[in-house]
Amino acid sequence: MKLVFLDRDGVISIFTPDDYIKNWNEFQFLPDAIEGLQMLVKNGFNIVIISNQAGVGRKVFTQQDLWDVTNRMQEELRKNGIELFKVYYCLHTPEDNCNCRKPKTGMIEQFISEYGDFDRSKTFFVGDSDVDIEVGAKSGMKTILVLSGKTKSIEETEKWNYKPDFIVADLKEAAKIIVNRSKQNGGKNEQDKSCCVE
Ligand SMILES: [Mg+2]
Ligand SMILES: [Zn+2]
Repeated sequence: MKLVFLDRDGVISIFTPDDYIKNWNEFQFLPDAIEGLQMLVKNGFNIVIISNQAGVGRKVFTQQDLWDVTNRMQEELRKNGIELFKVYYCLHTPEDNCNCRKPKTGMIEQFISEYGDFDRSKTFFVGDSDVDIEVGAKSGMKTILVLSGKTKSIEETEKWNYKPDFIVADLKEAAKIIVNRSKQNGGKNEQDKSCCVE
């Protein structure tokens, strides 16, 4: 199964500093995000969203608000020919000390328990923050940092414990890398890892 794991806020939709996306009115697709998703879907990738939504645990919005946003997002995506394979959320706060909140890998393990393991070394995790890169790296995946959300510059990554394999502007650019890689005929050795830092 060809898979791509994506964070939501800052990757597909806008990132709001110091706030959450609490309802559909606040939800906004990032420019080019739909195009990026279309590129992935057309090339046979199954898209899995892995997102921390502690606003639920903090009672800033309800679980039902979150699923309402999710349903409407999926509706919009369907109009554009995009069917998400699966959406996972961690609803806990950091204080809950759960296994699923990124940078922990619980949501990936959950996916594996439901659908079986996959070739991690050929699978990408795309996110806009350090926790995404950490989850991807700890799970043995390739990672792509997009600068369309929380992280604004390459310099910010210098102090991170886990460094992204690629850094690009947005999901569309990430999709190009992922699709190109998959066309390079699987088994070949990995090439340079720095080709796409802009
Ligand atoms: Mg994010
Ligand atoms: Zn959790």
